[in-house]
Amino acid sequence: MTLDPAALLAERTAAARAQEQALRAAIEATQDARSLTFTDDEHDPEGSTASLDQARDTALLVQVTRTLAELEAAQARLAAGTYGLCERCGRPIAEERLAARPEARFCITCAARPGRP
Ligand SMILES: [Zn+2]
Repeated sequence: MTLDPAALLAERTAAARAQEQALRAAIEATQDARSLTFTDDEHDPEGSTASLDQARDTALLVQVTRTLAELEAAQARLAAGTYGLCERCGRPIAEERLAARPEARFCITCAARPGRP
């Protein structure tokens, strides 16, 4: 298997950006919908579909934003020539892992270790 991290990272970054935009649009749409319904209350213990959607989208957005930051960091490592090396043990990260998670900072052993950063 030949890995092209630059292409992979660019592809993932583009996908994550698109997802980020879609989520922002969805959150805005939910907010618009909520402003039209007077029954909505953020502190309603039963919650509403709109709040649940918004909470889910917001959580996803946080995740996507984090992924984007990780992808950027990975691109910086690529530029610095340290890409694909575990940040903890310094050993190369398996290609299969990088193919699945091109932004991975740690090898599978270190990532599975408890107390990881
Ligand atoms: Zn490691």
